[in-house]
Amino acid sequence: MPKRVIDQIDVTGKSVLMRVDFNVPIEEGRITDDRRIVQALPSIRSVLDRGGRLTLMSHLGRPSGRGFEEEFSMEPVARRLGELLSMEIPLAPDCVGPDTVRVVASLRNEQCVLLENLRFHAEETLVDQAKKNPDKRLTPEQAAQVDAFASKLASLGALYCNDAFGTCHRRHVSMYDVPMKIGAGRRVCGFLLQKELKFLGDALFAARRPFIAILGGAKVSDKIGVIESLLPKVDRILIGGAMAYSFFKARGQEVGRSRCEADKLDLARRLMEKAGDKLVLPSDNVCAAELAPRVATQVVGEAIPSDQMGLDVGPQTVERYRQIVLGAKTVLWNGPLGAFETPPFDAGTRALAEALAEATARGATTIIGGGDSAAAVEAAGLAERITHISTGGGASLEFLEGKSFPTIDILDEG
Ligand code: AMP
Repeated sequence: MPKRVIDQIDVTGKSVLMRVDFNVPIEEGRITDDRRIVQALPSIRSVLDRGGRLTLMSHLGRPSGRGFEEEFSMEPVARRLGELLSMEIPLAPDCVGPDTVRVVASLRNEQCVLLENLRFHAEETLVDQAKKNPDKRLTPEQAAQVDAFASKLASLGALYCNDAFGTCHRRHVSMYDVPMKIGAGRRVCGFLLQKELKFLGDALFAARRPFIAILGGAKVSDKIGVIESLLPKVDRILIGGAMAYSFFKARGQEVGRSRCEADKLDLARRLMEKAGDKLVLPSDNVCAAELAPRVATQVVGEAIPSDQMGLDVGPQTVERYRQIVLGAKTVLWNGPLGAFETPPFDAGTRALAEALAEATARGATTIIGGGDSAAAVEAAGLAERITHISTGGGASLEFLEGKSFPTIDILDEG
């Protein structure tokens, strides 16, 4: 059942509490990538244009949870949001407390306030953190603290909107307990969340074929869940990145000094058996003696020389993968094909980004599952030529693993 969306409820004169993901990179007080703010604008405008009173809340970075820390203040975000909306966006002194309540209560129709960082309060993430405890439970005192924090946040809105896909895999107070308290019939999803659910959901349940997944990155162990979940659904899974060397080693091939998970070889073997022809591995590799810029490189076949490490897929693999991608109707990509932060080992990842852009132009639906591959596509200036770039790295991986998200399940149905 699709979720009810923000434009399907009457917000005029009502206070809307919207959870957004404004966890943007900030260097020396400057936002270096404002995409997450820009992508939340349609939901924000939908509330303001219809005369709603909007309170925005988000986390930023990983503060200690013991109160205000300048470094993690939402202040640069409030400024940037104000520029984008051409209006003053006040920043509340905290996310809860009497002063914040006063600021929120003073909002008039079409006005908006941003709360200070949710994670200045340890309660926001306590439930997830308690999962690491031996009994996975909160103490009764912690449970009471979490409940009180949720009540204070929930009192700031009559309606709740979740537009924070990047945090949906986290059972944090602002994501779960707050909408539970605000209640059924008053909790909806934003446009960004709706878009993520549509593209990632269609990939899982209604993909046009051929459906190709490309998985790269460092570790097989991080991607087992996704590989297992996608195997029955896709026509091929193309493997790249250091992860390929764990599969190579599991097949008994020489991997030299390549990054590889020696303790996951059984797992790699099991996945290869299960996948059969569907799993495609690189046929050539770009190697070097060390991972550093401008080192001498060589292209080798499947066996990596003992003094070398494999750092990118080779040109033959790029061409094979490109042809497969160009023949697809749906392409889903997560994880770089090489150590792409260090040129020239970004060549394979860049070439794959180009291939996806080309496939999009030919009518394929192309989806990037966030994280490093999203960064690579942005860096290559190809973002506009991809059908959908997910805003959630971890969240999109867990979604593709088929995990259920209670934070989304509890939202109203449309
Ligand atoms: P992940 O977080 O698992 O998606 O992995 C991304 C990281 O894997 C990036 O930092 C890449 O630089 C790194 N990576 C990908 N391929 C290689 C490789 N062949 N050797 C070393 N690091 C790699």
